[in-house]
Amino acid sequence: MIEPTEAAAPAPSDFIRDIVSQHVAEKRYPGIVTRFPPEPNGYLHIGHAKSICLNFGIARENAGRCNLRMDDTNPTKEDVEYVDSILTDVRWLIAGWADHVLGMRSVSGSEAPYYASDYFEQLYEYAVALIRKGRAYVCDLNAEETELYRGSPDKPGRESPHRSRPVAESLDLFQRMRAGEFPDGARALKAKIDMGSPNIWLRDPVLYRIRHASHHHTGDAWCLYPMYDFAHCLSDYIEGVTHSICTLEFEVHRPLYDWILESLELPRALPRQYEFAKLIPSYTIVSKRKLIQLVNEKSVSGWDDPRMPTISGIRRRGIPAAALRRFVTSVGVTKYESVTEIALFEHTVREALNALALRRMAVLRPVKLVIANIPEGEAIPCEAVDNPQDDNPRTRHVDLTREVFIDADDFSEAPPPKYFRLKPGGDVRLKYACIVTCTEVVKDASGRVAEIRCTADLDSKAGGANAARKVKGTIHWVSAASAFEAEVRLYDRLFTQADPEIGGDFRQTLNPHSLEVVTAKLEPCLRDARAEERYQFERLGYFTLDSADSTPDRPVFNRTITLRDTWAKSGDR
Ligand code: ATP
Ligand code: MG
Repeated sequence: MIEPTEAAAPAPSDFIRDIVSQHVAEKRYPGIVTRFPPEPNGYLHIGHAKSICLNFGIARENAGRCNLRMDDTNPTKEDVEYVDSILTDVRWLIAGWADHVLGMRSVSGSEAPYYASDYFEQLYEYAVALIRKGRAYVCDLNAEETELYRGSPDKPGRESPHRSRPVAESLDLFQRMRAGEFPDGARALKAKIDMGSPNIWLRDPVLYRIRHASHHHTGDAWCLYPMYDFAHCLSDYIEGVTHSICTLEFEVHRPLYDWILESLELPRALPRQYEFAKLIPSYTIVSKRKLIQLVNEKSVSGWDDPRMPTISGIRRRGIPAAALRRFVTSVGVTKYESVTEIALFEHTVREALNALALRRMAVLRPVKLVIANIPEGEAIPCEAVDNPQDDNPRTRHVDLTREVFIDADDFSEAPPPKYFRLKPGGDVRLKYACIVTCTEVVKDASGRVAEIRCTADLDSKAGGANAARKVKGTIHWVSAASAFEAEVRLYDRLFTQADPEIGGDFRQTLNPHSLEVVTAKLEPCLRDARAEERYQFERLGYFTLDSADSTPDRPVFNRTITLRDTWAKSGDR
């Protein structure tokens, strides 16, 4: 869904886009090619959404292409489940907005993402070329020794005893590493750069390691796997990427990125790497490693739990893709690490939903209200508005009957001052219907309110003689005769602290009230609710049908967000 405002909005501007525009003006490249390169070792999250919108956005603004590439060089942590989820999430996020610039490969007629692992053979050849040029060597030091030889930022490293090994010997060993002659960790291919460099990544970094492990995409074809730094720059080159955009932690890797490409003396234009600061929203964890912990420890129901900051969780919660795109774009692209207020995201979501949600009535904690002057069996049709934001709002009928449900919160026996909802002897308007006056409160054996009795001023209905009559409060309701029951899941922030890791362990700040499940009474037309539709339950918040757990007989609704920011006043809870 493209919002009209999104289509009309001026293209965002930032330092990376400025560089790209400059290159376009200079005609430096035949076309602009970016890429989004997730490692399929977890589900994508809100931070990745920023990277997706930046890379696809730049391709879109410059009539270029953005390749979706699985950065799959580490067989032990990756899985096809993650590949599939990444595809679904990216497609959902860019649908109707940037899908025309999505770069995919064609595999026997169908579309597939790029895989770094598809380049293993080519990468191997590039490694051989580096050895031939005397710029890489096979080293027999184990991981621990390599660590020791590397030194520390303030202490230069030491050269490996294998550094001056003849080219022919390295070529032979490298080929035997591939053939599976050596166990894991016995040898590695290293770049021959500078053990005295102040940049630790230039101290003869490992380019290849032995891993006797099956790979989700290449199976058992390889027992030799390239490191990220070697595979990434060359995958960019192979795909003709012009602007390789990543987050700040890769800034120190950039000299190595350039060194590898330049050492190979490649014929075509080289890609360049540009870095920006990660998106880190408050009250949120954006680390795949930690999100996996939440899933494995069952703190949430899965990767797509609506409380998760994953794209699949955000989708299931009912947040439109356009709202997520708008948020991750509005925060801008900078070089400075900072935390973004989650309230800003929530505000964007409310704005988007306010424009498109159908208004419906639902009662989350029902109490029965009996209207004495409406006879049993009678139904008084009332006109309710679907969305007052529309130019020509549509209306529907809701029936006012003798028995209705109202929310327990909307009645108080001992109300505080300025309480404008229902109280003994007080008046309130039932939304879209008429004004009622509370006449009696009936309690059950345990002293709880079992039933509230009232009389209605039936002339206060729209079109009636008393239609202009004013009362201070209006409450929502559903007819007991036609309402149906459904499970409603009230989601809230997953963490209680703006910095979930404030105490050292993010599990200590999990919000115990992040999910409350109620059995609500819903207006009958919600029986036809559709998962793609967004609803505002009047006065309560925005809701959507849960796409995973709903069945035609047992619909489940998720609260996407409350109508107002309930955290603003209370601060951290
Ligand atoms: P890890 O590498 O630790 O598994 P990652 O979050 O960096 O985790 P990748 O799959 O490498 O995961 O990320 C894919 C792309 O998304 C990278 O280019 C990365 O820079 C970018 N990215 C990751 N996290 C964020 C974030 N919070 N904000 C913006 N971009 C991000
Ligand atoms: Mg990464």
